[in-house]
Amino acid sequence: MCGIFGYVGKRNALPILIDGLTSLEYRGYDSAGIYIPESGSVKSPGPVKNLRLKLPKKMKGTSGIAHLRWATHGKPNQINAHPHKDCKGEVWVAHNGIIENYQELKTKLVKLGHKFISETDTEVLTHLIEQYLKKDGDFEKAVIKTLRGVRGTYGMAISYRKEPGKIIAARMGAPVVIGLGENENFIASDPSPILRHTKRVIYLNDGEIAVMGSDSYNIYTLDYNEVKRDVEMIEWGLDQVQKGGFPHFMLKEIMEGPEVIKNTLRGRLLISEGLAKLGGLEAVTEKLRSIQRIIIVGCGTAYYAGLVGEYMLEEYAGIPVEVEVGSEFRYRKPVMDDKTILLAISQSGETADTLEAIREAKRKNILTLGIVNTVGSTIARETDAGIFNHAGPEIGVASTKAFLSQLTALALLTLFLGRQRQMSLVTGRRIAQKLLDLPQKLEKVLADTKYIKSLAKKYSKYKNFLYIGRKYNYPIALEGALKLKEVTYVHAEGCGAGEMKHGPLAMIDENFPSLAIALKDSVFEKMISNIQEIKARKGKIIAVTYEDGKKEVGPLADVVCIPKTLEMLSPILSVVPLQLFAYYFAVEKGLNVDQPRNLAKSVTVE
Ligand code: GLU
Repeated sequence: MCGIFGYVGKRNALPILIDGLTSLEYRGYDSAGIYIPESGSVKSPGPVKNLRLKLPKKMKGTSGIAHLRWATHGKPNQINAHPHKDCKGEVWVAHNGIIENYQELKTKLVKLGHKFISETDTEVLTHLIEQYLKKDGDFEKAVIKTLRGVRGTYGMAISYRKEPGKIIAARMGAPVVIGLGENENFIASDPSPILRHTKRVIYLNDGEIAVMGSDSYNIYTLDYNEVKRDVEMIEWGLDQVQKGGFPHFMLKEIMEGPEVIKNTLRGRLLISEGLAKLGGLEAVTEKLRSIQRIIIVGCGTAYYAGLVGEYMLEEYAGIPVEVEVGSEFRYRKPVMDDKTILLAISQSGETADTLEAIREAKRKNILTLGIVNTVGSTIARETDAGIFNHAGPEIGVASTKAFLSQLTALALLTLFLGRQRQMSLVTGRRIAQKLLDLPQKLEKVLADTKYIKSLAKKYSKYKNFLYIGRKYNYPIALEGALKLKEVTYVHAEGCGAGEMKHGPLAMIDENFPSLAIALKDSVFEKMISNIQEIKARKGKIIAVTYEDGKKEVGPLADVVCIPKTLEMLSPILSVVPLQLFAYYFAVEKGLNVDQPRNLAKSVTVE
């Protein structure tokens, strides 16, 4: 959520900054702006393409900072666009996060004569730095003193007109990575815009700043102590952050599903022993043997993955599980003992609500595990152990492939914990084998894309949808509805099919279609009854089913068939037609699928 980018080097900064913003665009598009000390600033409401139209012909300079906003304080307009400046237009800040004590700081600064022009919380930072610079003109010290006095979260890039050969990065609770090139250095919210320049990066920790020149970088704590950090190499290739011939990232990422499942499974299954080998859990393997309860925490799609995980872990590992959204977990009083662990699920590894839940659990001395896609992210670093998704970067704001890999990782965890307990060798082998078969089965689902596209077209005139499922596919009904809401802005509700008669059924008529996941499994007959109940109220239905369920479902619904698998693994296949349905529905409506309004990826605010 929100993108910052900075460059200092020998090349012309403008195209590098614009290019950096373009590859970060999925993080925010309320406004875009750049500042180049030798030339000045340009800002525009809306996405980077609006900014491009405003760029003057000549804008020279070899350093600069840039920002994409996801507004928290103040409207998404020109005035509130970052980077923000101090009274003299010398100190410029691009900020991701929220300064919680900005009101109190602002009051003090106004008394001292500072003139504010925006409604943002961010602007206090520029004036505070300006205020401290008055003392001795030391840029670094002024930044550090400022940061010591602010409360809240920030990932920041700071530039000072009097020192154009320098940019400063700072981090507290919002991600910042610095990229180290040849005679040039970079700051960004995540590695994707850095990749085309260098693969050598350092992830800043909370409470650190990086002072960067074209040939130097120094990292300090807020006590002004220098810290030495190892350089890491990014594993992704540039092709992974480009669209590769697809019209949208969302479609590309759905199509990557089979590859993603393979990557999540790679090297982690011992078929003949019916075991999952999870390197990231090795250090805590013995501890996990005696746990008696798991609390899964996630937000949005990751939360729904957690709900599927609950069914898997309870059925096959026999461990009581509860699932909670991060934003609720931390504000109630969760009852946990030393046999409880917390499992956090987050694609970006930066989700603020989930991160705070982890920190709360750690304060209570609870073991924390993560299922995280982004190596080097805060959640990956702060959890005690975990499983990486290896799904590659996910750029589309609506999560698709990461969800598949989260479910796959949860199945691996179920196998791992189940085999530590009562699960038999035969069951272990069966799950392992069925996991391995998934990519090929998913290819078959994806081969049906044209048909799903035609259904999306057929149903695109409707304004309301109900999604229903049971057991393992109850969370998939919720996820399917969320996907539709996210990318089409059409109202959709997900509910457990059994719950329909307790309320939602009242909405159904010929203008209110439903999507049902009705696979021939342990709850098939009940699902058929629920579909009949809709049909009896003239409701139209699209149903996802197995080939052998077609006989029963066919006369009642428009049917999408998926290959049969283990009930526990069926969500990994059944969700994909729902993702494609939402995608094509949004395309049909001419919407910006990869950047839905009001949303952004990597939600780093609470
Ligand atoms: N709180 C700041 C604002 O509303 C920064 C938001 C962001 O992270 O983009 O401008």
